[in-house]
Amino acid sequence: MATIGFHGAARQVTGSMYLFTTDGGYKILVDCGLSYEEGDQIQQNSYFPFDPEDIDIVVLTHAHLDHSGNLPTLINQGFEGQILCTEPTAALTDILLSDSANIQGLKQKIQGKKRKKGKSSENNYIRLYGHKQVMDTMDRIITWPFNIQFEIHKGLSVVFKEAGHILGASSVEIHYTENKKSKVIGFTGDLGNKGSKIIVDPTPMSNLNYLVMESTYGGRYRNEFRRGEEVIESYIRATCIDQPGRLIIPAFSVGRTQAILFVIHKLFEEGKIPRGIRVFADSKMGMFSSGIHQRYSEYLNSEARDFLTDHDSLFRYPELFFIEDDDDRKILENHYEPCIIVSSAGMMEGGRIREHVTNNIQNPACTFLIAGFCAPGTLGDQLLKGNSDVYMKGKSKTVYAKIASTDAFSGHPDHNGLIEYFAQVRKNSALETIFITHGEEDSMNFLKEHLEREGAKVTMPVKGEEIQLR
Ligand SMILES: [Zn+2]
Repeated sequence: MATIGFHGAARQVTGSMYLFTTDGGYKILVDCGLSYEEGDQIQQNSYFPFDPEDIDIVVLTHAHLDHSGNLPTLINQGFEGQILCTEPTAALTDILLSDSANIQGLKQKIQGKKRKKGKSSENNYIRLYGHKQVMDTMDRIITWPFNIQFEIHKGLSVVFKEAGHILGASSVEIHYTENKKSKVIGFTGDLGNKGSKIIVDPTPMSNLNYLVMESTYGGRYRNEFRRGEEVIESYIRATCIDQPGRLIIPAFSVGRTQAILFVIHKLFEEGKIPRGIRVFADSKMGMFSSGIHQRYSEYLNSEARDFLTDHDSLFRYPELFFIEDDDDRKILENHYEPCIIVSSAGMMEGGRIREHVTNNIQNPACTFLIAGFCAPGTLGDQLLKGNSDVYMKGKSKTVYAKIASTDAFSGHPDHNGLIEYFAQVRKNSALETIFITHGEEDSMNFLKEHLEREGAKVTMPVKGEEIQLR
């Protein structure tokens, strides 16, 4: 009997990893993400509850590190098979894993220095992997398009469906045969919203017997009913046109940065905002990622593709300036006109955005527009809660800048979106069990209760649980 093991993102959001084993013992690992839960992350991520040598193939839903970030460790520990994903996922995974290796290297260096100076008694930080392991990972990747069956073994195949979450993101159907009967288990991966900027709408899976469903925003509802264009236009107007201020938008480098830069481009082209307001994109990863969005534009939605037939580029426009080095940074430092700054990271915990907070948080003519979810305790969360002071570089700074937020660019569906997705899957399936994963316990419970009211059989697996698919 086939089994499914929930080895990550079970009653938590990060570290996605599911092990599907067929009756005949063929093992497919769906995702191999980094876990960011509290505690020793190196320890958490260097232990696999199975032997990596036994895995036959990895199927990767999308490039985000909580789904892809532990692949180099898996290879380091003996995994010898291939990794299957879509073409844009491969390209984005390459830059995200390289960045992760860089950050780990940097942390190791900094802690080593601190220990030498006697400033840290912590154990030496040992990184999970470096660039060699990232290259080894990329060598294993084979890419496959959406909606076409990939036969990985006799009677066993995989189909990617568009998940609409980020460029190249897929839901995964595994088709297998047991006792001469065909069965299908579907993994949503991270889902996206209908009508997102640049990213396609999700295509619901079909003919499923089992569904492994994300629940990130179960029990939460979207607040913003304006379109992304209207939101960005109103803040540009209030901050950069009606007054000579700065609009600063913290954004993740993959997905949200591109959606926002594209919307600003559209506003200029449509004459909704006057030309000439400088837009600074301050994130190297954001720049690489924008290049990948441009390169794989055939995977984007029709709005972005139509825009491309009329214009040369999605992200190249005279006002937009990507900051690559210190010289570029000086240009921004010496820019005293109103401007827009888009910088990572989204929750404001790390990355270049910290510098912009330090320099602008006391400027009352400045607005920080937080365009995504901020985990409790992060700087973004503190600002959203209305903290009057923040600590930057060891100093307390009173917040004089305006703090605003929008969820118009959310990368996950809210509760209603999840229910709608489920209804579409159910319409074309004979679903036996739904496994809810990838959410905090409250969100999962909320979604579970809702689905059960609709007569579905729902399970909330715990981490490490292995379930027989009978
Ligand atoms: Zn994701």
